[in-house]
This record gives sequence, structure tokens and C-alpha cells, in this order.
Amino acid sequence: MASTDTISSADILLDCGATSHMFTNREHFVTYAESSNEFVTVSGYNKVPVAGRGSVLFSTKLPSGRLSIILRDILHIPRLGTNLVSLGALHCKGASVQSFDKGLAIFKDGEELFRAPLTGSTGTLYHIQYASPVTGIAYLAGSLLSMHLWYRRMGHLSPQAIDSMQCQNLVKGLEISIPREFDHICSGCTNGKSHRFPFPNSSSTHYTKMELVVMDITSPMSVPTWDGFLYALVIVEVSCRYPVGRLLCTKEDVGVTVHDVLAMLERQSGLKVCHLRSDNRSEFVNDAMNTFCHRNGIIHETTIPYTPEQNGITKQAIAVFFEMV
Ligand SMILES: [Zn+2]
Repeated sequence: MASTDTISSADILLDCGATSHMFTNREHFVTYAESSNEFVTVSGYNKVPVAGRGSVLFSTKLPSGRLSIILRDILHIPRLGTNLVSLGALHCKGASVQSFDKGLAIFKDGEELFRAPLTGSTGTLYHIQYASPVTGIAYLAGSLLSMHLWYRRMGHLSPQAIDSMQCQNLVKGLEISIPREFDHICSGCTNGKSHRFPFPNSSSTHYTKMELVVMDITSPMSVPTWDGFLYALVIVEVSCRYPVGRLLCTKEDVGVTVHDVLAMLERQSGLKVCHLRSDNRSEFVNDAMNTFCHRNGIIHETTIPYTPEQNGITKQAIAVFFEMV
């Protein structure tokens, strides 16, 4: 920093020449540890002693209201004459800089921290706009904060509830800065609260005879039957809910059994199967099944993954069969 501009110990300047944040006023600090034998070089040749290190809390003025920010690891240098916030140190902590028509704005994690317009008699110094020095950390708990910050502090409580808490004076120190509107979309809450509508209890779709045949297979039974069957394949003709059950030793028998049952249904009804519906498991969705459906002109529909509700007819038929055993 090199300037003939008049600056006071009350100013907070944004400086790109400073290697770290340096404050001259002890009253700005909210945490403090004295240091000894530590010096910094100011203006290239002057060595000035560092009295201590700590954190500084001040309230910045933004177009949307005020924001209290804490800067950590700040050098206390009583002989400095003014307060310097290092642009380089902010950058190292992940802050980003945007320039507006008359100065710079500093952002961190998408939130604007403060603005530093070009002011002073020469108009070449970035003065950080701040409200007034804060003397106690307790002020932070009751300070004027944005609705977004209160929303986060209250554990993502609804803005309406925060608003009514403030209107009814239920919480001491709960003050919301202007603007009070909450235009933030919280991705966590949106994802957490999203759900799908329940499925209807019954289907009102009507099928003609042999228009749709649905099928499903049980998971292996814990105890095999006396002749070694482990699985139950259920095929239901939907228009009249005619179920056919077959016991299988292995899943490899699914293809052949489906062919047999469909042939039986077609011969007995005198009609051809149009649509075949199953879930996406590999017993039903494989090359052999695709070839079979393709050759016979059958459209094979599969349900949406993790949506057994779409195959409810077979689930019910399986339950009925097992009730009868
Ligand atoms: Zn949320």
C-alpha cells in the first residue's frame, strides 16, 4: 500500500499488497493471543512489532442487509495506522473476487461477504463497507442476519416458522435483515422431501382376452419341496385373472416353462398373446426370451426398476398360491 490519501485507524482497507490481514485496533479483536519477537516489514523497510494474533469480527454492509463476518489469524499491529484485509489471504481461503462498477465484491461459497468500493480523496483505495466495530462475541448470536442464515441455524426450519417466531417475539435476539424474503432453494431439503405419489389401490384398465399376460418368479424357497423344487413361476392372463403356477428346480427352466404355459393358454383360448409383462430380472430379460417374443410377435413389457407395484397382479397371485399350500 502506498498512498498519500488520508486514512484513519477506523478504516478497513482491502489491500492486495499485504501478505496477511493486519489490524491496528485492539478493540476489533474477539479472540486474542499476545505474541513476542514477531515483526512485519511495512512499506519495504520499516520493521514494526506484532503485538498479538487473533480473530476479528465486524459487520459488513451489503445491498441485501448486514452480514457479520469473522476473519481469523489476524496480526495485531498497533503502529500500522489502519486496518488491512489481505486480498491474497482471502484468495488462499477460497474467496473469490468480482469487480463491480466502482470497486470489488468478495464472495465465499456463493455468498457475498463484503464490498469494497473505491473511495477516499484520491478514489484509489478499496474501503470495505462495514457497520461498526463489534466489541463482544455475544453480539453475533443476536445480530441482524439474513433469513438464509437463520434458516441454516434453525436446522432448516421453514422460513414461515422463523418469521412467525420473530413476529411473536418468541426468540430473544432473532432479527432478520432486509430483504426478509427467502429466495434460496435448498437442494438438501428438496431432495429429502421429494416423494412419489402412492399407487392406486386398483387398476381401472380393461384388457381384452389374451391381450396381456403377466409373469413373475419367487425367490428361492428356504425349504425345497420333497422332489427338489425351489422356485415358483406364476403366469396370469390379465383379462380374466387366470393364474398358472409352475414349480421349478432352477431358474434356467423359466424360458421353457414360459413357452409351455403360453402355448397352453393360446391353444385353450384360441387366441394369441399380444403383450407379456415381467420385471427386469435376467430370467425374463435375456436373448432367448427376446428371440421368442420377436418370432411370435409378442411385445415384452418390463416394469420400472424398484417398482413392484406395476406387477401387482402376479404378486397377488403368488400370495394366493402360497396361502393355499
Ligand atoms: Zn434445507
